[in-house]
Amino acid sequence: MKYSISTVQENWLQIECEFQPKNLGSIKIGLPIWRPGRYQVQNFAKNLPEIKSYQGDKQVSIDKIESSVWELNCTEIAPIKLKYTYFAIQRDAGGSVANEEMLYINFVNCLICPQGFENQACELSIKFPRDWQSATSLTLKKDIFVARTYRELVDSPFLAAAQIFSYSWKEAGAQFFIQGIGPSTVFTGQLIDAYKKIVAFQCAWMGELPIKKYHFLHWICLEPFYHGVEHTQSTMMVMGPEDRACYDDLIGLASHEFFHVWNIATIRPKPLLPYRYGEITYFETAWIVEGVTTYLGDWFLKASGVINDEEYLNLLLGNLKLHFDRDRHAVQSLTESSMDLWLDGYGSSTPGKRVSIYFKGAIVALGLDLLIQQKFGGAKSIREVMQQMNAHFGNLKKGYETIDFFRIAEEVYEAPLTEFWNVWVLGSEDLLDPLASILRNLGIDLSEDPTLGLQLKKIS
Ligand SMILES: [Zn+2]
Repeated sequence: MKYSISTVQENWLQIECEFQPKNLGSIKIGLPIWRPGRYQVQNFAKNLPEIKSYQGDKQVSIDKIESSVWELNCTEIAPIKLKYTYFAIQRDAGGSVANEEMLYINFVNCLICPQGFENQACELSIKFPRDWQSATSLTLKKDIFVARTYRELVDSPFLAAAQIFSYSWKEAGAQFFIQGIGPSTVFTGQLIDAYKKIVAFQCAWMGELPIKKYHFLHWICLEPFYHGVEHTQSTMMVMGPEDRACYDDLIGLASHEFFHVWNIATIRPKPLLPYRYGEITYFETAWIVEGVTTYLGDWFLKASGVINDEEYLNLLLGNLKLHFDRDRHAVQSLTESSMDLWLDGYGSSTPGKRVSIYFKGAIVALGLDLLIQQKFGGAKSIREVMQQMNAHFGNLKKGYETIDFFRIAEEVYEAPLTEFWNVWVLGSEDLLDPLASILRNLGIDLSEDPTLGLQLKKIS
């Protein structure tokens, strides 16, 4: 498939898609309704006013049959060209923006695909000023960006601007890039050094890296912002305002998003393998995807020497508060709130209903990690669980379910964890006392102060 994108007018992308039909008759064309990292319908089609369809010079009629699906009747086997515009003003890490200063595109927003063509190789030409620079994990061959499949194409954000910061290094047999739009005061030696330590540590911790290149893409913007989205070969992070110190937020976000290379891009919940962007996909394992990544993302900062023990305890306390202060008495379990991501996973929800799969999920990961470490005197940890998940599911390109994660954790623990799962994952009771008792064994006191709220202290 061949795509071309240009901007003739501020905020608008002009897009063409050309493909060779395989059969005569009805061909359905779809636009994704959701994107990687956010399991919620976003209906990108609302930004696409109309599609025109051509075969040779002849215009062919195309009808809209669903909010994000169009249909045309193919009467001859000859290339079909689709032309449309896309309104690109979504200024977050999963959106697209086209203006005089930058061209920032998440192709999942705006590239339509004939149904059944998701595994076809794609070529993409993008018009932007000659003196601009670009950044993306897509491969560039003679001014054309190429992707092995449509799936890879829409999992690869793109940035172009007059000036893009770029730094590259090698680790674990892969080429890494830090690239971004923003002031040089953000892309400091300290930031580069932190990213390098985080990458080196995570690669060694997992024992293998499933990719050959990885891009940390940034847009440091003028407005207050904190948002990151994971992809297989990159992450897109939007952070602002540009005059604040972004360092602390960036290292935390980068560490989280990079671990998603394993924990979602490779080790994938069964319902999401492959991503089916045209439909809602429920999965009750979202707490494993986001909870384990939230817990480990922060822990990697300490383990790799980027932050110290005290800074880590502060981060951990911050995450614990986000659960205990807000969702402590919520009625849903983690698996129920995972299913409801599509309903109310990201904005506000009915009081007392939902738990955050990120923050309560992180507490489960912490609890599991500490239980394993305590039983084996530190000789085993959640590391073995994630390595085994990678060996049995990630590397085999086999999707996992809740029961698989439970089984692998129990194999590592060398005993059943039925009670733990029932209370921490499948139940909705308050976890403060169970967590405090595990932490106490490690010499950490978790308590509630009537005026100061939740407190985390090393017992001296
Ligand atoms: Zn995440």
